[in-house]
Amino acid sequence: MRIGRCLCGAVTYSYEGEALWTGHCWCESCRRATSSPVTTFLGVPKSAFSWTGMQPKPYKSSPGVNRWFCPECGAPMAYDNDKWPDEIHLYAATLDDPHSFWPEERYYFGERLPWSPAEVDPT
Ligand SMILES: [Zn+2]
Ligand SMILES: [Zn+2]
Repeated sequence: MRIGRCLCGAVTYSYEGEALWTGHCWCESCRRATSSPVTTFLGVPKSAFSWTGMQPKPYKSSPGVNRWFCPECGAPMAYDNDKWPDEIHLYAATLDDPHSFWPEERYYFGERLPWSPAEVDPT
């Protein structure tokens, strides 16, 4: 079982098993949602996932898309999209043990900012 939490610790989660996929996203929507030049995700099945502390709040960032955040500290926690109804996409930096994680894919690399850290390019 893997666990994760927000900055203040009010919102916590756990999931069983392995991530379906992992990767960095450089898209503008993620950038603005997290105020960071790159966002790192892992996708897990909703059936293996549960919120274990305070429920996060959703922000509808585009049609069919929720970006979940901690109502206490504001930390971005997760993304879900009607396109993938069985998945929840967690921000990898919220993992309790992020060192045991490695991102494999890259998404929207063409949208990256010229000053985005080069070392996050996994290729
Ligand atoms: Zn919090
Ligand atoms: Zn994105």
